[in-house]
Amino acid sequence: AYTAEPPGDLAARRDRVLSASYRLFYSDPVHLVRGEGVWLYDADNRRYLDAYNNVPSVGHGNPRVVEAMTQQARRLNAHTRYLSDELVAYAERLLSFFDPSLDRVILTCTGSEANDLAYRMARVFTGGTGAIVTANAYHGVTGEIAAISPSLSLDIASSARAVPAPDPRLGDEAGAQFARDVRAAAEDLIASGHRPAMLLLDTVLSSDGIRPDPIGMFTPAVEAIRELGGLYVADEVQAGFGRLGAGMWGFDRHGLVPDLVTLGKPMGNGYPLAGIVTRAEIASIFGRRDRYFNTFGGTSVAAAVGSAVLDEIVENGLIASADAVGRQLRTRLRDLAARHPMVGEVRGAGLFVGVDIVDGNGALDRQRAAAVVDGLRESGVLISAAGPEGATLKIRPPLVFGTEHAELLLDHLGPVLTALEHGCDADSGHR
Ligand code: PMP
Repeated sequence: AYTAEPPGDLAARRDRVLSASYRLFYSDPVHLVRGEGVWLYDADNRRYLDAYNNVPSVGHGNPRVVEAMTQQARRLNAHTRYLSDELVAYAERLLSFFDPSLDRVILTCTGSEANDLAYRMARVFTGGTGAIVTANAYHGVTGEIAAISPSLSLDIASSARAVPAPDPRLGDEAGAQFARDVRAAAEDLIASGHRPAMLLLDTVLSSDGIRPDPIGMFTPAVEAIRELGGLYVADEVQAGFGRLGAGMWGFDRHGLVPDLVTLGKPMGNGYPLAGIVTRAEIASIFGRRDRYFNTFGGTSVAAAVGSAVLDEIVENGLIASADAVGRQLRTRLRDLAARHPMVGEVRGAGLFVGVDIVDGNGALDRQRAAAVVDGLRESGVLISAAGPEGATLKIRPPLVFGTEHAELLLDHLGPVLTALEHGCDADSGHR
């Protein structure tokens, strides 16, 4: 008979029952029990400012989203093989935020599934098999997508090539250099028998170190991939739904119209809702050949939740707010950088901000970045670190993060940096 483990150390119980592939944040993990807006509460009722989680973008426990979810769940939760008012209304509404050429939707449950399906569709449409991604990209967990996600440090698939992400330090040259790299990768794929099916780009280049600029940096590479017969797939799983503070989608900032767009994370504010938007022409060639049914993708509840999320973004002006709060945050972070030598470059767009943490020689410093993340956690603020070196602070709060929350984050960050700098001085004194 089953007997529950005695209550005790939750982390130890967790280790006994969960797979080793799960990793916790922090050496002293946070045990969350409740969330509201930008706030998270632990088991001791300690409050944390959430400056990291983009999934609850319209706020933890958003009342309109919870209401839509529960009302629809009480009424009906059906899958996509029956006619559904909620699903059609949601697809119509979602498409109204895209260029008219992007006029078809497929819903999935995760961003990984969306990317996996985008790759399948790109292969069917182009007849090619190759994929080009950036050097430290992350696009998801399915076997095929993990194999084209170099940040997972698996062996990359023989049908894929990874190219360096556009380098913001090159300024206006960044796009031309990126296009040369993409073209060379495509030619290399062709030489090895893989015509390129897609160039798959996380619009904000999150795992490549958060690189939203320069504006227009993808355009020459997108032209190159199309010339070589491939499609441009925009992975908007992180950048989408207003996060970058300039339009609903990250590619809007760059003036691009992708062939396929993949969506996820904030799409359902925590309810598993993700999907693809593409042109009818691509959807129909795929649809004639392949069926796609995803049991939980696009259910009535998913659609009701998705609509509520869009309502919240629009009615509360969250895109403009992400822009304004993000600008204030970056300006103040640059002020901090002037006072603290361990703070290097500050990059970002809207409420997606990266801050390089560097050593005495200006080189990226993973350990110091981890110490800042830990120090902030001790003072009640949650962020993380990203980038190939893991040395870029990743500040990516719910979009309901206001100027007062940005100020609070900065009030905590200053002393954390000062304490670490004193610690560093003390260390070097001993050496
Ligand atoms: N693409 C990007 C850019 C992501 O950041 C993620 C998730 N971190 C995914 C795809 C995969 O999404 P999911 O975890 O929902 O499968």
